[in-house]
Amino acid sequence: MRIRDPRIVAKLGEIDVELRRGTALADLTSLGIGGTTDLLRIKKHESLPDLLNLLDANHVPHKFLGGGSNLLVGDGELPWVVLQLVRPEPDVVLHGNLAHVYAAADLGRMITYCAKNDLGGMEGLIGVPGTVGGALRMNAGAYGMQIGSYVREVKLHRAASRKIEILRGDQISFEYRHTSFAPDDMMLAVILELPSKPFKEILQGIRICNEKRRASQPLGQKSAGCIFKNPPGASAGRMIDELGLKGLSVGDARVSDRHANFFVNAGHASAKDMLTLIAGVRERVEKTFGVSLEYEVVVWNA
Ligand SMILES: Cc1cc2nc3c(=O)[nH]c(=O)nc-3n(C[C@H](O)[C@H](O)[C@H](O)COP(=O)(O)OP(=O)(O)OC[C@H]3O[C@@H](n4cnc5c(N)ncnc54)[C@H](O)[C@@H]3O)c2cc1C
Repeated sequence: MRIRDPRIVAKLGEIDVELRRGTALADLTSLGIGGTTDLLRIKKHESLPDLLNLLDANHVPHKFLGGGSNLLVGDGELPWVVLQLVRPEPDVVLHGNLAHVYAAADLGRMITYCAKNDLGGMEGLIGVPGTVGGALRMNAGAYGMQIGSYVREVKLHRAASRKIEILRGDQISFEYRHTSFAPDDMMLAVILELPSKPFKEILQGIRICNEKRRASQPLGQKSAGCIFKNPPGASAGRMIDELGLKGLSVGDARVSDRHANFFVNAGHASAKDMLTLIAGVRERVEKTFGVSLEYEVVVWNA
């Protein structure tokens, strides 16, 4: 979708929002798939209520982009614009055991910075790409931990009140790859309470997690991490593997040979290829195991 109305363009400038016309989302997502739209880069949190009012008043639909590492975006000209927060500097400030972090901060860099300051707990998330905002929204987790366990406070723009608000950690429910935020809430910043640990010990944990990832995931290839959530008490990857579907392809969309729940873009896969592959695998799992797999990847296809 293109913003052509000069009055909207002028207003965007006034509220400090940068308009990047005709941005290819394939370049901003780890799967390397996705069509084109206008990208609006938000330099100040305070602009958000004005920006959202402006878009609503002019019937411009939008979606929030973090680091693009959990997204499967549709092909062609997209029927909405994308909003992204500009990363401020510094993006992490420490006060004792509390890490004040902007949502646009890179998750891995934030974990490493905290580790160097003897704050741990997040070792399992090393190697998870994307932003802190995306991790909060998805309640990113790995190796038995999840980011939600460390959340003390979240600053967000709430769709319901159309205001910037602060929620305490105990007002938010964090479940397996699911949170109680409304779909149109936008994460702006978070305070994480992290346990003190000597850097050496944290580094040891980070090395172990890195090793596990390297051994089991197709890290050199374009993917969005796991495509499906694990159903209670089962592993989506194991079921797909048991069906012998590793290597199955539609065009350049392929079930990874390394990890059956990672689907990779082995060249120039389209969203259509990837969605056809995902639907085919899901159907075969349902037929054989009677389990209807839920998507972990977020699909922006309309
Ligand atoms: C190689 C690889 C390994 C991975 N391993 C793991 C893993 O071990 N565990 C795990 O949980 N995930 C994993 N993932 C998936 C992904 O990295 C995480 O879900 C990550 O937290 C997504 O963050 P992001 O900033 O890239 O979000 P995006 O992909 O940009 O967005 C994901 C969702 O969050 C929303 N969102 C993003 N930012 C905001 C914001 N500021 N406010 C509101 N909504 C927002 C988007 O609208 C979208 O709905 C992996 C991905 C890859 C490619």
